[in-house]
Amino acid sequence: MKITVVGFWHAFPGKGEAASGYLLEKNGFRVLIDCGSGVISQLQHYCDLSTLDAAVISHYHNDHIGDIGALHYHRLLLPYLSEQKEIRPFPIYGHKEDREGFQRLSYKDVVQAVTYNDQAPLSIGPFTFTFYRTTHPVPCFAMNITDQLSTLFYTADTGFSEQLATAAQEADLIISECSLYKGQDGTKAGHMNSEEAGRFANIANARSLLLSHLPHFGEHRRLVEEAKVECPHTTVEHAVSGWTKII
Ligand SMILES: [Zn+2]
Ligand SMILES: [Zn+2]
Repeated sequence: MKITVVGFWHAFPGKGEAASGYLLEKNGFRVLIDCGSGVISQLQHYCDLSTLDAAVISHYHNDHIGDIGALHYHRLLLPYLSEQKEIRPFPIYGHKEDREGFQRLSYKDVVQAVTYNDQAPLSIGPFTFTFYRTTHPVPCFAMNITDQLSTLFYTADTGFSEQLATAAQEADLIISECSLYKGQDGTKAGHMNSEEAGRFANIANARSLLLSHLPHFGEHRRLVEEAKVECPHTTVEHAVSGWTKII
């Protein structure tokens, strides 16, 4: 599977960039994971929007759903922009623990919200998603995503949790949130710092770690150095727009 960072900023998009959004591709099937502010604009650098097959949303904070409205309007206009006559409703997968948030994913008859939960894995195209509840002020779900050959674990937003790290066991790549620098405590807000993200990857024995959901201050390089101390056997990088990896 191929992973592309569409956006990586915490809270709001940096100039000309986007908040959380990741593109997952395999055999021509494309899934967008999270759709934060700026994502629909940035996504067009990496694929034609009309070729997107599904979206999966971790939770309903603005930095993960800010561009859902733009996605809705694209799907509304698609019949007029495309030669395709029969266009099926576009599925956006979300959890139903916040009913209002879930309902806002649907739009007219062009976008349909589809529920997921942490009780059973879900097949989306060639991918199998398994969801894990995170430690966050609102219901939020991390995702273990496999194509039966390799595994990506996306922490979504979470405070440090050893149990969650166990769910990421042996992942080829962990995309971990890293909202703060070492020594800063994000526990109350349900966020991890660089040291915790490194510990998370070490417990999981992950092959590689991508720090994302990055803060709007300091030098992101420092986050990598701080995380690396905690997981010496894992390759550590920080997200930038357009970062890609095939696992
Ligand atoms: Zn959040
Ligand atoms: Zn967030």
